[in-house]
Amino acid sequence: MSEFSELLQRNREFAARVDLTRLAMPAAMPDRLLLVLTCVDPRVEPAGFLGVGTGDAGVLRNVGGRVDARVREDIAYIAMRLGVRLDVAVIHHTQCGTGMLAEPTFRRAYADRAGLDDAGLAAKAVTDPVATVREDVAKLLGSPLMSNDLVASVSGHVLRLETGLVETVVEAVAPRETYAA
Ligand SMILES: [Zn+2]
Repeated sequence: MSEFSELLQRNREFAARVDLTRLAMPAAMPDRLLLVLTCVDPRVEPAGFLGVGTGDAGVLRNVGGRVDARVREDIAYIAMRLGVRLDVAVIHHTQCGTGMLAEPTFRRAYADRAGLDDAGLAAKAVTDPVATVREDVAKLLGSPLMSNDLVASVSGHVLRLETGLVETVVEAVAPRETYAA
């Protein structure tokens, strides 16, 4: 028995009630699809705080909900594979555990143990989610991979765990049509 046994029971309940057409690959994809990028923190669950249901949106999660090369590649792959344009919502949150990466003693110990770069880790810390979400929206919009045939818009938000409310920091912005090489 593990924590997962309880989830398997919930899965059987889900399978018994789900409308299977929600799980089938649609014959035609919508023109645009929502993609949420957020933190792995269990309190930051899009099905909970956004009510994201089956088939509603793609969800990418990593530590902090940060934009990096892997996230950019995944976004491009999803858009190309499904043949949709994505509306990407980047959501950082208050009380993020990545804040520990701003503490030099912890960060150096972790960098040594994991064989990672100290400066790279420092840049991952979300201590001011309003600032980091702005930074990450700019990182997406500045990437040649995020051309507007793949990405319809990018927006930035902060989930405040003190109130449960999401605050929009960067309204949806369309990427540029073309990029200079
Ligand atoms: Zn977090």
